Amino acid sequence: MMVLTKKMIEIRSILQKVGQSSSLTLPSIVVIGSQSSGKSSVLEAIVGHEFLPKGSNMVTRRPIELTLVNTPESKEEYGEFPDLGLRRITDFSSIQRTLTELNLAVSDADCVSDDPIHLTVYSPNVPDLSLIDLPGYIQVVGQDQPLELKQKISELCDKYIQPPNVILAISAADVDLANSTALRASRRVDPRGERTIGVVTKMDLVDPTRGAAILNDKQYPLRLGYVGVVSKAPQSPGLFKMGPTNLLSAIAKHENSFFSSHALEFGPDAGVNVGTTTLRRKLMHVLEQTMSSSLQSTSDAIKQELEEATYEFKVQYNDRPLSAESYLAESLDAFKHSFKQFAEEFGRPQMRELLKNELDQKVLDLMAARYWNKPIADLSVVQLEPDQIADLPKADPSSLYWHRQLDASASALTKLGVGRLATTVVSTSLQSHVDMLLNSSNFATHPFARKAITEAASTILNERFYSTSDQVENCIKPFKFEIDVEEREWAQGRQHVGDVLKKELRDCEAALVHLESTVGGRRKLKEVMSFVDKSRKGDIVVEGDGRSGAGGFSAALLGKGMHIFVRVPPRSHRYANNELGREAVFLRDRADIIKMRLMAVKSRQCASIKNKYYCPEIFLDAAASRLASTAVLFLNVELLSEFYYNFPRELDLRLGRHLSQEEVEQFAKEDPKIRRHLEVIRRKELLELVLEKMESLKQLEGRDRDRVVGE
Ligand code: GDP
Repeated sequence: MMVLTKKMIEIRSILQKVGQSSSLTLPSIVVIGSQSSGKSSVLEAIVGHEFLPKGSNMVTRRPIELTLVNTPESKEEYGEFPDLGLRRITDFSSIQRTLTELNLAVSDADCVSDDPIHLTVYSPNVPDLSLIDLPGYIQVVGQDQPLELKQKISELCDKYIQPPNVILAISAADVDLANSTALRASRRVDPRGERTIGVVTKMDLVDPTRGAAILNDKQYPLRLGYVGVVSKAPQSPGLFKMGPTNLLSAIAKHENSFFSSHALEFGPDAGVNVGTTTLRRKLMHVLEQTMSSSLQSTSDAIKQELEEATYEFKVQYNDRPLSAESYLAESLDAFKHSFKQFAEEFGRPQMRELLKNELDQKVLDLMAARYWNKPIADLSVVQLEPDQIADLPKADPSSLYWHRQLDASASALTKLGVGRLATTVVSTSLQSHVDMLLNSSNFATHPFARKAITEAASTILNERFYSTSDQVENCIKPFKFEIDVEEREWAQGRQHVGDVLKKELRDCEAALVHLESTVGGRRKLKEVMSFVDKSRKGDIVVEGDGRSGAGGFSAALLGKGMHIFVRVPPRSHRYANNELGREAVFLRDRADIIKMRLMAVKSRQCASIKNKYYCPEIFLDAAASRLASTAVLFLNVELLSEFYYNFPRELDLRLGRHLSQEEVEQFAKEDPKIRRHLEVIRRKELLELVLEKMESLKQLEGRDRDRVVGE
């Protein structure tokens, strides 16, 4: 029983998964021959199907590693291209088409490629064999073929005809054997003729006496001998394409009748080997023997590979077990844990602070628009003279104008869309916290998981957005009509707005310093500013075409037109926008106003809510605090708690059991470090499996040998 080849073929397919390593290749039968020597016909006669590419234009351009698997218990015959994921192709003409396409994909310019095509054929009619078909040797290079083609084919074949492979050297009977390229190549690598089988095709084309003489060749004696075949079935007019048994039996019948009609030359007593059936048997036997004798060296090579993999696993990965699933599960757990920690730290007070900061900015904007929008001298809320600070402020608190100003500002604050603003601020912050957590998690190196997690967060936040925003807007509705500020809130507001103004002042000053360095020094900036001042008063008319301006300054440096008093976004880069002079004047004026307002806020008059019309900043700050506190109550229920509850569940959904095995593998391998770790483990496991199989094979072999000896 030839079980060894079958088992070894199984082992080989496992080894192919381990990765190509020349020391791990098991012996195959390599088929070489000149073009038209009948190489394809011989292979097809062995398989019993027409399946090889046909045509005059060099149709075999890549090695075809053909594995034949005998399946005695099944009637079905089919082929598979494991590399392409093509399974169970029962139509052999479709296999032929695929092979043709794969071969012709090699460009005419390259003509040959050493990248092998793997094809496995399962059938009850084939023996267990592993064969490699190579491009046929050519005598003359065709017109549109590269000159070095002959050389390239020969080198490709040389690569494959090395030990422990068996060489099937095909020569046609109607060509002098001395001229056989296949035999010459084989003789170079196997001079003693120990692992070459000579196949002489087209025996029907020569005189039987001469045919028999060829098979007895003494020029290049082969231990495994020569086999003469007639592998071309006669054309049968009724059949378009012959079925497997048809082709097999047709060839067998044809050969039989040919060889038996020349019994003297080819009969049992003639001492020559003929016929495809004989050839098949010989191939099986020889491969089995070769496999058997390479068992030890192959298992040694596997042991060595295994030792290397074990060493790498120990040294590089500390023997730490890992699987794609466990890696994903651990990463997800760690991420959820860090999220939980964040959730414990980010609650109502943090949301309130975020929202209040945002509202502080809005208050500053409102102040700038309603109160600070006049040159200092016109500001009647507070008339500031350097030595009159104690008299602050001077505006008439009973003036209806200031009442309306404050009411309008408060109304603008409450109606600016607090619901939307609050929801946006908190959502954005949550999303960016998730991003931060991601960055410091395992997922940082996994685009696939990153995307899934970011989307999980945004999906929940988007879903909650409108209802949260409506709820918040609803709950602050009463403030749109009236805001009552208590003394305690006033005192807090006074303290707080002082800090806000100080910060704004610092930002203005920093921006000015930045401008100075942009312009090229303080003096230069001052010059530009005084020029702008004069032009503002109407002393100078600034004209320019945008490139050059008055007073020797460029128009870009001066800026054109007067600045509208809007709040400066801190650390903004707007100063680069060619309006330096104007910008500087704006900043200087603004800093002056803020200084003045700071003094006003600190003044005795602003100590009590009674003087709220003097101190609109404090009133609006206190109002903003009210809005923030109220909004946060609803944000907490509608958005934050929902998010904290749903987010981990959404993560489980997107990265948990739903993922297929392939997706999990794909995820884990996105990280090159994890990929290598997983690969070394897989390699180790496969090699262990192979070694185990090899050991039991060796035992089996040993038993067989003992039995043979015993008999
Ligand atoms: P390859 O180029 O070496 O693969 O050769 P093929 O198998 O394509 O055969 C070349 C030609 O020789 C084809 O026309 C075959 O039909 C023919 N041929 C192959 N084997 C035999 C044979 O044993 N006898 C005869 N008469 N013709 C054959």
